[in-house]
Amino acid sequence: MITKDPKEIKALRQGGRILAMALNKAAAAVRPGISAFELDQISEAVIRNNGAIPSFKNCRPSKNSLPFPASLCVSINNEVVHGIPSKEKILREGDIVGLDAGVEYQGLFTDGAVTVGVGNVKPEFLKLIEVTLDALKAALENVKPGNFIGDVSSAIQAVAEKNGFSPVRELVGHGVGRAIHEDPEIPCFGNPKTGPKIVSGMVLAIEPMVNLGNWKVEFNGPWSVKTSDGLPSAHFEHTVLVTDQGCEILTSMV
Ligand code: MG
Repeated sequence: MITKDPKEIKALRQGGRILAMALNKAAAAVRPGISAFELDQISEAVIRNNGAIPSFKNCRPSKNSLPFPASLCVSINNEVVHGIPSKEKILREGDIVGLDAGVEYQGLFTDGAVTVGVGNVKPEFLKLIEVTLDALKAALENVKPGNFIGDVSSAIQAVAEKNGFSPVRELVGHGVGRAIHEDPEIPCFGNPKTGPKIVSGMVLAIEPMVNLGNWKVEFNGPWSVKTSDGLPSAHFEHTVLVTDQGCEILTSMV
């Protein structure tokens, strides 16, 4: 199990703050008519101007696959994650949009995501956003030494399903820090008291992905992930450090 030392934690804290600033600035710019490309440019500028590197840019899921072409994933409505920003991808009133970025700072990686509504959004879609954020909060309450990854996963599932939504089953949160993705995998569903034990010093990217309809998703090519039923999906993510009592959110503005 990978744990981080104090020097690494210091860099992760700083990188996490830069990531939070980048996501907040992109989220604040969300409005009808703006392109996903512009949001990508906004977040990348914050990351680079603070001496960090956008870690998603040119990231390859496997050796021979197509690198991700941008700093920010912009996933609209039925896109679950990994949406590729472009000038042609324009946000429209009523959309919901997931913004996901990764930062490398002094060789250490953090990961975070938010979902926001574009202009006036249907109450049902706003509820999906709210519940997904609640699922993240419930998950974080379960991140503490002595608990298991299954406690975190089941907390996400319980909040999503109690509200009639479906946690995605084919994508996972993950350890993070020395690389963009590390062990353990952190599913959005599962049973309490199962999986790897949580220990102090671990750094985890917890990321509930919740679908309005059923949990099934379709993969197309190296990046595209969409809901099978075409209904929207929401996504929130924080990178957290496991402390002796619980966890410290590294990708938060405060
Ligand atoms: Mg992640």
